[in-house]
Amino acid sequence: VRNRFAAANPGSRAAHDTASAVMPGGNTRTTLFYPPFPLTMAGAEGCRLTDLDGHTYVDLLGDYTAGLYGHSNHIIRKAVESALDGGWNLGAHGEREARLAAVLCARFPSLDLVRFTNSGTEANLLALATATTRTGRGTILVFEGGYHGAVLTFAGGGSPVNVPHRFVVGHYNDLDAAAALADEHAADLAAILVEPVLGAGGCVPATRAFLELLRRKATETGAVLVFDEVMTSRMSGGGMQELLGITPDLTTLGKYAGGGMSFGAFGGRRELMSMYDPRRPGAVPHAGTFNNNVFSMTAGYVGLTELFPPQVSEALFARGERLRTRLGELSTELRWTGVGSMMTVHFQREPIASARDMRPTPELNELFHLDMLHRGFHLARRGMIALSLEVGDAECDAFVEAVAGFLTDHGCHLA
Ligand code: PMP
Repeated sequence: VRNRFAAANPGSRAAHDTASAVMPGGNTRTTLFYPPFPLTMAGAEGCRLTDLDGHTYVDLLGDYTAGLYGHSNHIIRKAVESALDGGWNLGAHGEREARLAAVLCARFPSLDLVRFTNSGTEANLLALATATTRTGRGTILVFEGGYHGAVLTFAGGGSPVNVPHRFVVGHYNDLDAAAALADEHAADLAAILVEPVLGAGGCVPATRAFLELLRRKATETGAVLVFDEVMTSRMSGGGMQELLGITPDLTTLGKYAGGGMSFGAFGGRRELMSMYDPRRPGAVPHAGTFNNNVFSMTAGYVGLTELFPPQVSEALFARGERLRTRLGELSTELRWTGVGSMMTVHFQREPIASARDMRPTPELNELFHLDMLHRGFHLARRGMIALSLEVGDAECDAFVEAVAGFLTDHGCHLA
């Protein structure tokens, strides 16, 4: 499959060679790389991507959830174009940031007050800084397989570029272990940081009981409960917190919520967030040249209000559930985990409740990924899918058929 891929994509190979002369591995976002070289895209429209060699793909990756609105959405494009008439990089307050903030605070139960950043990574860093500053403590409880940003990754033993907080790493969905860790570190516990669904870590949903336990332990110990909803905010009008009725102290957002522009946000309870109120004596500064940039503030607002009202989030959720059910019925050799429009394929029969339940299968992941590209479907090397609003019934039907074709051709490799 690798040879077939290389032979079919001379344009992408040449582009990668050119890029490799000036960027390590020709890459500036690690997750986009795969051997022998990644495809270089030339254009995109709706749910379709076109590469340098002229192949067209159905985009099922949806930029790891950031691409909710599909490609080149004309409503977002028009809004951003007309916003440009008022100038950009104003170096001053504009009205757009307050408009977007009002929508987010109205939709997400935990948000009394919110502030903007340029990425989900930054949003999580600021949420943790808020917790450590307000509590005067330093320990952060996170979970194996959790991904909270470029310098906050807890898969496979963490990352050497992680920020040097005192992290304690628990097992996802293990209630007894999480309770024990929270009790053991109670006196210094500043925050519990958790994804309501492990995203990059394999689309594994937390059980309601697990999140309820974390809520209870945070309250008991005086720690700040942070829900990282950078990916999961799409699950309803107000994210997983609304769906489950469990309210964290702080929430972080990112990805599609900026309408496809660079974006992050953190917010929550008034008494926590008011530490950033510059009118207050002893206020803590929160800086960022592009925090209220016109592009993200405009695209985020238009996206949420015109393209993704709560009823659309419900329809997308249902579409994802239907697709995952159909894929799951194809074969017991593949396990499709996920919630709503986010899902990941695993090449194992055993159920998955946490990172330690996942069997590493890099060869099968590569085989599946390259085979799907060959059949015209773009998804993540690790097998992740995040449906955009542009993916319709026809694309879902075709994908189910493509996976069935994969099983017919390669089923023998799976057992
Ligand atoms: N949290 C989660 C759950 C994420 O999935 C991501 C990005 N994949 C981030 C935080 C970081 O966001 P960004 O890439 O915008 O820094």
